Amino acid sequence: MTRKIAILGATGSIGSSTLDLVERNPGQFDVVAVTAATNVAALADIARRTGARLAVVADQARLGELEAELAGSGCRAAVGQEGLVEAAAGEADLVIAAIVGCAGLGPVMAAVEAGRTIALANKEALVTAGELMTKAAARSGAVLLPVDSEHNAIFQCIACSRSEDVSRIILTASGGPFRTASVETIAAATPAQAVAHPNWSMGAKISVDSATMMNKGLELIEAHYLFGLAPDRIDIVIHPQSVIHSLVEFVDGSVLAQLGSPDMRIPIAYALAWPERMETPAQRLDLLAIARLDFEAPDLGRFPALKLAREALEAHGSAPIVLNAANEVAVASFLAGAIAFPEIAGVVARALEDNDFPAPQSVAEVLEIDQSTRRRVAGAMQAVCQ
Ligand code: NAD
Ligand code: MG
Repeated sequence: MTRKIAILGATGSIGSSTLDLVERNPGQFDVVAVTAATNVAALADIARRTGARLAVVADQARLGELEAELAGSGCRAAVGQEGLVEAAAGEADLVIAAIVGCAGLGPVMAAVEAGRTIALANKEALVTAGELMTKAAARSGAVLLPVDSEHNAIFQCIACSRSEDVSRIILTASGGPFRTASVETIAAATPAQAVAHPNWSMGAKISVDSATMMNKGLELIEAHYLFGLAPDRIDIVIHPQSVIHSLVEFVDGSVLAQLGSPDMRIPIAYALAWPERMETPAQRLDLLAIARLDFEAPDLGRFPALKLAREALEAHGSAPIVLNAANEVAVASFLAGAIAFPEIAGVVARALEDNDFPAPQSVAEVLEIDQSTRRRVAGAMQAVCQ
């Protein structure tokens, strides 16, 4: 049976891996909609290649450009939040949510409310609106299939188990490019060093998040909402080889883990084929070549972002939104060369200290808190730089 899919963030790292799998399996997927932030030429190329009927560019000013690129293709062009929502809640049965950041929240929520199956890579959407999203999914019957490799591993390990039989989740973390670096080396880290991940090839923002370990902090919050476990039952362990993608401990003491080579096409394929499986070109695991698996405790002194994320999760309410918004602004500033690497966590810590927003009651309120925090953080950074 052909599955109708929409790919939100089709030009990115997860988007490209998804397209690779789709194109290797002709006839299995009907790509109905594709979206991108600004890269109109790449988006139009994807739309033509896949035969998509709708292509959406987030940048409002690029409608004419996209229409010109799509001329004669039979694919309709749309723009902005409205267009993204149409792509997410339109005719696709399965929505690949691969936009980076809180910018993806509106479309993901639209897909959830429309009762779609969502392959969720866009962790920031769940971090910022976890409770609202899981409640909306329960109402609409939407299914959230985690694509993040750790959560996909946990999802596979839990499979048909009763939630009361799960006693603990152990999220593995590679430790990023600065796992063994000194405080001084980390303080002087450049954007090029920060995005050079030892095991995974990913977009720039998540690569910096891996270097600060904020990525694992966001994943802790993501795991809490996806699997409904209290924060103190979600542990984080450094596992430099990135072979075990995460583990689940059950009440009887059994621990199940999912292993595989570090290739995002494995968790993406799981979501694309769910509840079945499909073949992927991912390298097979060679245990003898790997030979050993190592584990370490995370160092909260060198990686304070992890502590901030756990505190934000425990504080609940608006704290995860503020954590995420401040982090997005700080990472962008770091990548632009405006702030030093340790300042990313510094900016987030100050934003959390200043947070006086009440708990959001709707997605509109989440987006308001997100925008207000961005303005506050940008203002504070400008004041410091002047
Ligand atoms: P990326 O930067 O490579 O791609 C992001 C995509 O989103 C692009 O298509 C871009 O055009 C689009 N986009 C960016 N800003 C947008 C905006 N304001 N509005 C609309 N579209 C916008 O990022 P990525 O590495 O593919 O990551 C995507 C998401 O998946 C992130 O949330 C990330 O945390 C998560 N994730 C990625 C990986 C990975 O291996 N890359 C692994 C796990 C989770
Ligand atoms: Mg991950």
